[in-house]
Amino acid sequence: MSDDNRVIVVGAGPAGSSVALGALRAGSDVTIIDRKTNVGIPVQCGEAIGKTGPGLAEIEIPEESIRAPLRGFRVYSPGLLSVDYAEKETSGYIVDRRVFDKELFVRATEAGADSLLGARVIDLVRFNGTVTGVIIRHEGQRKTMKANVVVGADGVNSQIARLTGLRNSYKPSDIDSCFAYEMSNCNLDVTDLMQFLLGSEVSPRGYIWIFPKGNNRANVGIGIGGGIETKTAKEYLDHFLQNHDVAKKQLSKARVIETRVGALPVCGPNKTNVVDGALLVGDAAGHVHPITGGGMGYAMVCGNIAGRVAAECSAKGKVGSSHLQQYEKEWRKLYGAEFDQSLKLRELLLQTDDATLDKLGEIVTGESIVKMTAGKKVKIFMRAMATRDRKLIALMQELRKLRMV
Ligand SMILES: Cc1cc2nc3c(=O)[nH]c(=O)nc-3n(C[C@H](O)[C@H](O)[C@H](O)COP(=O)(O)OP(=O)(O)OC[C@H]3O[C@@H](n4cnc5c(N)ncnc54)[C@H](O)[C@@H]3O)c2cc1C
Repeated sequence: MSDDNRVIVVGAGPAGSSVALGALRAGSDVTIIDRKTNVGIPVQCGEAIGKTGPGLAEIEIPEESIRAPLRGFRVYSPGLLSVDYAEKETSGYIVDRRVFDKELFVRATEAGADSLLGARVIDLVRFNGTVTGVIIRHEGQRKTMKANVVVGADGVNSQIARLTGLRNSYKPSDIDSCFAYEMSNCNLDVTDLMQFLLGSEVSPRGYIWIFPKGNNRANVGIGIGGGIETKTAKEYLDHFLQNHDVAKKQLSKARVIETRVGALPVCGPNKTNVVDGALLVGDAAGHVHPITGGGMGYAMVCGNIAGRVAAECSAKGKVGSSHLQQYEKEWRKLYGAEFDQSLKLRELLLQTDDATLDKLGEIVTGESIVKMTAGKKVKIFMRAMATRDRKLIALMQELRKLRMV
């Protein structure tokens, strides 16, 4: 096959397979490279995904992967005040990530993508400063593969981000460390809501999640802020499971059937994700919600855009950053404001003590939590003033500066 119009995608996660589908639809040849020999394994995820979002209609969630429908969430404040949000209809799913990633990858190959598994990208090829391919290590051999555009969809520790200079390192606080169990024999209070628990005792700078997975199973995990923890994420989660009232009620008979470890970038997107001949998408680009830690939906939508733009630029033979910039423009239009606002909100919430979070829990509704995490304005200012709580009012004044209340 000719390499005249080829996009190489590094990574076969939700971002990479979505890039491939987007590029194939726009007429490009595609090769997906992944260092894994089995796509989707090991699972490093809470496995929750919204049903819709801008562009998600174009890339459907693989039905085979759906394990439980969701209608919303329950958030527990540190003092265990709970706020529910439930839509009338199904608004999202808990999926089996193993099946999810594999099926998306299979769709990409069925649509015509070539694939190379068990191959690690170790370097980039450049001509006059423009990325023109990758160097891989595969079956003990070093090989060069040429491409018009290289897309780095290679996750949080992206090699392509480092090699292009788009992100060289993270500060410890940029990353949440996560640990999760899949558990059987659960006795959940709610089977169509995700449960989140906040507070410095249970999960400093993060949260514990309990996600229903059908058949009395649940994905139970924790994400904690990097660099400040005195215990590991696993230790916090085990402590929660043994001691916390919510765990005692819903998970006392639960048994661990799988463990998961992972890291999440929670520092918002990279300044730019485009260089001459290459671009980044998904976790590699920082496309993860800074508060919820959700990244699959963004990876898929942004991946689809990245694939289309890469293919269009490749077909025209114009792969300079000024042309690939179209991708930056399009994804930022969809999510730029949401990421910016939620990053600022994250910083504020991280400085908020448990007592003030409890006060906040008294005045927010589920709808206002949805709006705030999407970076939108909510009407809670007057309710906050009525509490006469000094710290809550100070928080509101900061939120007002961000035009969020
Ligand atoms: C514990 C945990 C819980 C989470 N829970 C949720 C959740 O409930 N909902 C949600 O939406 N998001 C969640 N996330 C985030 C979500 O998992 C990621 O945002 C999502 O996987 C990003 O997809 P991706 O394709 O960008 O990267 P990945 O899924 O990480 O895929 C990257 C791929 O690149 C490959 N690769 C890496 N380097 C190379 C290389 N040099 N050469 C070749 N291949 C390479 C890897 O093998 C991998 O297959 C969670 C994350 C963690 C860690």
